[in-house]
Amino acid sequence: MDLGLTGRAVVVTGASSGVGLATAGALLAEGAHVAACARDEQRLAAALAELPRADGARTYTAACDVTDGEAVSAFLDGAASELGGIDGVVNNAGRSLLAALGDTTDEQWREELHLKVFSVLHTVRAALPWLRCSDCPAVVNINAILAKQPETTLAATSAARSALLNLSSTLSAEYAADGIRVNSVCLGLIDTGQWRRRYERSGSSLSWREWTAELARDRGIPLGRLGAAEEVAYAVVMLLSPRASYITGTAIDVGGGISRYL
Ligand code: NDP
Repeated sequence: MDLGLTGRAVVVTGASSGVGLATAGALLAEGAHVAACARDEQRLAAALAELPRADGARTYTAACDVTDGEAVSAFLDGAASELGGIDGVVNNAGRSLLAALGDTTDEQWREELHLKVFSVLHTVRAALPWLRCSDCPAVVNINAILAKQPETTLAATSAARSALLNLSSTLSAEYAADGIRVNSVCLGLIDTGQWRRRYERSGSSLSWREWTAELARDRGIPLGRLGAAEEVAYAVVMLLSPRASYITGTAIDVGGGISRYL
């Protein structure tokens, strides 16, 4: 099926690794142009250069910290002028803060809210003039199942994720009249840099495969494994596609069945 993304320009934040990189790859394979940012531009440019792409698909890369509103505006201005507009935004940049309530400082609470909530306000505000000119504008916010099923070891991250889910609902209602669709993809445990770093820090004698199989068992993931970044990217690309023209204000879980709510 043609997803109708050929020649569309999509911004992906945090695209140098994991879910962001896989999403950029899936978009380029569909023939979309990708504007990608991360804080480390060298790593970003090297990662994007490796991706196969359909004929004509172009990339624009820039160093940008999504918590800095002015930097985000400059990045989106550059993206729109290089790629001829903006049709989609994937708010993906981020990380989690592994800390229980009693171990989380006020400063860390502020940082989490800044990264998970303000960064999305920054990109959406800056992209709005171009999204309003697109005939298939869409925003996808990468979120976590934690937003609906908080974990005590991720106190600030869980709360900030809930705030983002709430904000996504408001954004979808606010901009529906402009034809801008806003949806979320809520992740379970996905095999990316975040988990590789935790595995290395754990000093475990188990292989990566054994360690993640144990993790999946401990967390009760029905599919018995971590997800792949590419498995998230398919959901994101589907939501960006004009084929999803009647889907807005919703959240799709990509978690191998880990969510326990109905
Ligand atoms: P990775 O660590 O693999 O990639 C994170 C990306 O975000 C990198 O490109 C990083 O590049 C970039 N980034 C981080 N902070 C910023 C910032 N302030 N400004 C701009 N870019 C930034 O992570 P994942 O692919 O695992 O995670 C992607 C998203 O999914 C994150 O929001 C994460 O919280 C969320 N998520 C992931 C889960 C998982 O199991 N993997 C579970 C639930 C949610 P650089 O460091 O150069 O800036």
